[in-house]
Amino acid sequence: MIEENYTKERKIPMSDCIFCKIIAGEIPSATIYENDEFKVILDRFPSGEGHALILPKNHVPNVFEIDPAQAGRAYALAAKLASAMKEVLGFTDMNILQNNGPIAGQTVFHFHIHLIPRREGDGINVTWTPTEPTDEQIAAVQAKLTNLI
Ligand code: 5GP
Ligand code: ZN
Repeated sequence: MIEENYTKERKIPMSDCIFCKIIAGEIPSATIYENDEFKVILDRFPSGEGHALILPKNHVPNVFEIDPAQAGRAYALAAKLASAMKEVLGFTDMNILQNNGPIAGQTVFHFHIHLIPRREGDGINVTWTPTEPTDEQIAAVQAKLTNLI
């Protein structure tokens, strides 16, 4: 089926997915951990030393489509690696982040978790401008979102 060869999100042929090619070994990567389900590689254009990416070996575009249980296993792996990396690389802090969709900054449409070591004065910027909704506005959003799942 042709459709199965395309990512649902962007109609990008899976054969063009750079992370699928890395997982298949068609493109080299600096792999730091691998099991049956995940491959963890160093980012080729890192924010700094140790910036790593956790990739599921199956092609799944984003958090909206991943099996939540698999997302859980990916984050369990993130937690284990974060502590281990901290020991070896000697950093103290870390951002763990995950972009879904182009507006959110996703550029490779194969789910991945970023492990971003943070060091004093590293100049990395993961911020937004806080807004100041009224209590009523907060309550309106709460009403929309409560008991969704
Ligand atoms: P996104 O912007 O989708 O959240 O993150 C994609 C990440 O993949 C970026 O940090 C980018 O540097 C990284 N990246 C893009 N192409 C390659 C590649 O060919 N190899 C590796 N190891 N990382 C890549
Ligand atoms: Zn892929």
